[in-house]
Amino acid sequence: ETTIVVNLRVAPLGDEYILVLADDRTEVSRTEAVRNDFVANVSHELKTPVGAISLLAETIEGASEDDEAVRRFSKRLHKESNRLAVLVQDIIELSRVQGKNVVHAGVPVDLTTVIVEAVDRSRVPAEDKGIDLRVAGELPRRVHGDADQLTMAFRNLIDNAVRYSPEGTRVGIGLSSRDGIAQVTITDQGIGIEAENQERIFERFYRVDPARSRSTGGTGLGLSIVKHVVSNHGGEVALWSQPGKGSTFTVRLPELEEGLDDLSGL
Ligand code: ADP
Repeated sequence: ETTIVVNLRVAPLGDEYILVLADDRTEVSRTEAVRNDFVANVSHELKTPVGAISLLAETIEGASEDDEAVRRFSKRLHKESNRLAVLVQDIIELSRVQGKNVVHAGVPVDLTTVIVEAVDRSRVPAEDKGIDLRVAGELPRRVHGDADQLTMAFRNLIDNAVRYSPEGTRVGIGLSSRDGIAQVTITDQGIGIEAENQERIFERFYRVDPARSRSTGGTGLGLSIVKHVVSNHGGEVALWSQPGKGSTFTVRLPELEEGLDDLSGL
């Protein structure tokens, strides 16, 4: 079964005719279109920090007599270059996980260990905001896949929960398992997400509030990385959220049937 995607543009041509332009966006051309969009998005996103860095460098050069100004602008230069480094890192991670199915190619992974590691890496930002970060439950079985990809995905979800929550709130990570499906929930008491944005936030570079995302070190790529990693593992990610109350991201992954571990090399 093939889906044919056609982009139609219609324009009047005199009184009696209309002009119909049909762009074929099926398969190959669609992949190409997605790739072109990605390149356009990336170039656009890189322009801001690169522009800021070059402007700051110029300003520092011009202010070389004024120690205080040099110190101030150098600090900002440092901040902008860190931001650029994080953005480049996320772009590389996203291109690495895009379309890389690991259901069969992976190895047995203990999801509880993955979560504990992801939580440990998010501890510092949580402590800085006085957020109580807790894990409850356990996962008796393993999943088949790539531990690094999974750690990165859960870290993004936990980092977001911390990033979009006020100080002194709680972020809970719940682990459970049913009918061969491992379920991980990440719940926060943060700002929440309006219904109309709930699907869009999984698109790359989509942010509800770009200024807030940037000022807290976000790149707009975290959730698209999550979406790809989860789908690479044959799973799904769901979102429940209420503005002003908080959000829960639920990740479901098929568990590895015990006894099949030794077949992992096949
Ligand atoms: P970012 O780097 O901007 O956090 P993400 O792809 O991780 O990028 O998330 C996209 C957007 O989704 C964020 O900019 C934010 O608006 C929203 N978002 C993600 N997680 C949460 C959350 N836990 N609570 C509220 N908003 C969130």
